[in-house]
Amino acid sequence: MSTSRTVLITGGNRGIGYAIAEEFIAQGHRVAVTARSGAGPEGALTVHADVTDAASIDAAFTRVEAELGPVEVVVANAGITRDTLLMRMSEDDFTSVIDTNLTGAFRVVKRASKGMLKARFGRIILVSSVVGLYGGPGQANYAASKAGLVGFARSITRELGGRGITANVVAPGFIETDMTAELAEETQAQYKSSIPAGRFATPGEVARVITWLASDDAAYISGAVIPVDGGLGMGH
Ligand code: NDP
Repeated sequence: MSTSRTVLITGGNRGIGYAIAEEFIAQGHRVAVTARSGAGPEGALTVHADVTDAASIDAAFTRVEAELGPVEVVVANAGITRDTLLMRMSEDDFTSVIDTNLTGAFRVVKRASKGMLKARFGRIILVSSVVGLYGGPGQANYAASKAGLVGFARSITRELGGRGITANVVAPGFIETDMTAELAEETQAQYKSSIPAGRFATPGEVARVITWLASDDAAYISGAVIPVDGGLGMGH
């Protein structure tokens, strides 16, 4: 088994973040999740935080550090969509998605890097999307935010790679969560027909890739984009 770590996951009260927390707990790690509402799974410390607010992120980290120790693994998972065609997309539709998905990850990772630099160890995992590199009609804001995470992870790798810190991107395809449940049945069927695997994934299938990236076995992987999309994107 891999060394037991202190892990913080943003948006761990539902969906993929909740599954990631469950998987880290099952593997014996100390786990904290941030939530704006609700709570993470049993065994996780839930702290209130909004990724659009740097002060709330700072307070969340301070509490986690006090209760579980310095954060060694951070998973920037919190994300939103505000899909609409470019012609109808307001500036607020665009900037609010960037602020949560990209600048939110920056706020979280910047705060996490303090302790990681001191420890000369860290695992930074950013939850992107197949759409980040594939694009999606009606998703200019979301795709831009998710593609931005790739440049962000690669720059961190170049800056901090010599200090025992890795930064990687996981790019899920369609996963069974609230985000995809909103899609009409017909749209879901259309998407499934274009996925080589012929199905959506479970949140656990994403979570187990993330726990592996945080493990001792993945120490030499950094700046990578790992697709978990049943072959939908191919060509990252
Ligand atoms: P959900 O909509 O089920 O959950 C989103 C999570 O993000 C919730 O915990 C939510 O908290 C949190 N969140 C949103 N905004 C903020 C904020 N400002 N501050 C703190 N937390 C926030 O999404 P998924 O679980 O499906 O998605 C998780 C990640 O995976 C996202 O980054 C998403 O883009 C990505 N992804 C999802 C795919 C899918 O098919 N589902 C595919 C590819 C990528 P709250 O409950 O308080 O709103």
